[in-house]
Amino acid sequence: MLDKVVIANRGEIALRILRACHALGIRTVAVHSTVDRNLKHVAMADESVCIGPAPSSDSYLNMASIIAAAEVTDAQAIHPGYGFLSENADFAERVEQSGFIFIGPRAETIRLMGDKVEAIRAMKDAGVPCVPGSGGPLGDDNAANIKIAREIGYPIIVKAAGGGGGRGMRVVHTEAHLNAAIQTTKSEAKAAFGNDMVYMEKFLENPRHVEIQVLADGQGSAIHLGERDCSMQRRHQKVVEEAPAPGITPEQRAEIGKVCVEACIRIGYRGAGTFEFLYENGRFYFIEMNTRIQVEHPVTELVTGIDLVREQLMIAAGRKLSIKQSDIVLEGHAIECRINAEDPETFMPCPGLIQHFHAPGGPGVRVDSHIYEGYRVPPNYDSMIGKLIVHGPDRDTAIARMRVALSEMVVDGIKTNIPLQQRILSDAGFQQGGMNIHYLEKRLKEQKEKTISIV
Ligand code: ADP
Repeated sequence: MLDKVVIANRGEIALRILRACHALGIRTVAVHSTVDRNLKHVAMADESVCIGPAPSSDSYLNMASIIAAAEVTDAQAIHPGYGFLSENADFAERVEQSGFIFIGPRAETIRLMGDKVEAIRAMKDAGVPCVPGSGGPLGDDNAANIKIAREIGYPIIVKAAGGGGGRGMRVVHTEAHLNAAIQTTKSEAKAAFGNDMVYMEKFLENPRHVEIQVLADGQGSAIHLGERDCSMQRRHQKVVEEAPAPGITPEQRAEIGKVCVEACIRIGYRGAGTFEFLYENGRFYFIEMNTRIQVEHPVTELVTGIDLVREQLMIAAGRKLSIKQSDIVLEGHAIECRINAEDPETFMPCPGLIQHFHAPGGPGVRVDSHIYEGYRVPPNYDSMIGKLIVHGPDRDTAIARMRVALSEMVVDGIKTNIPLQQRILSDAGFQQGGMNIHYLEKRLKEQKEKTISIV
């Protein structure tokens, strides 16, 4: 087993990784920025190293500092968590070149999946169903692009090959707007991702977001752990996630899961990963693969009983997968609500001092959060301050448990999106299940208009 791991992240996921390490008897090194000295996992880690000032470009994105921290503490491996450097192929490469284990796939796999055009090509070759699209980058020939769009059929979406986090995308409904949209997306992509390559695909009008979790050991074995439904989104960002996805049959799950497992084996995938699909009219369309642990991984853990971070650590230690596909049995239903330090009406981030914190509890309730009374949420990072996850024998029970848990949870001193989560959990459409990716924004718009008309 590994002996000592550097946790190259912050917040709830750093704490989550620390817990998995300690449960395996692995010692931990927390690396943190100057404003993050008071993070919970920093206090709990065996060692900690300050890697730079608050801006993430100087700390959590500072490759040299993180690798130096591994060197001075004599660690063996680096866990990147999600976000920050987790999907940076250059970082993975530098970690390995410096003699450490990168807890994730090989650098070349990360590089392949980080280029969406190449990723789609590789997945198509591996037999994974993809959204009808340009099949490659768009050139500067307007007439050629118009022809591609006509063949796909409007509406289409122009996407940046290097895009991420829901940015670098533009929907086009008519031919008149196509070339301007391509040019704008290109210049935005250049500025945001340093890569102006864009491609085109059919814009699916009412899809759900359904993703498949996989584990592969890079030694010829891979399994899938079923799917998650992450259709409750705002600005392409997930707000609520659940497993299993309402209405997906065991046959559909087995079929798409098998396709993902075969693709993993074909590309020599190693570690935990997620195949993201849009799901419409009973069909799956691959959009991208995430080569890391995801925020919403706990819902899969609760329905499968598998500790995904533990498995990541075992795989990184060179162990073969000990779980067989037949061991994966889904039990009950799990839901996760992301808890953000933000105004529940305007969605403006709301950093500040947490004066009072009470975590909910009871059967099937899990709180993955680094906050505590007296903790100050810094303004420098993502506004997510934790995740509330529940498990129940069926979806209705899970919803009921989540509603009670949300009502119990107290975070005083700053604004949070708990009221928004309560509205979602009591919404008739959410309760029915299977809503598409536009549903939440549509409901938010309706509610806003209603409030305005009352005023
Ligand atoms: P990112 O890497 O930025 O998350 P994705 O390719 O995963 O980008 O897309 C993010 C979200 O954008 C999806 O969950 C979906 O809501 C929307 N989206 C992306 N591609 C399409 C498409 N072809 N049709 C409809 N919606 C799409």
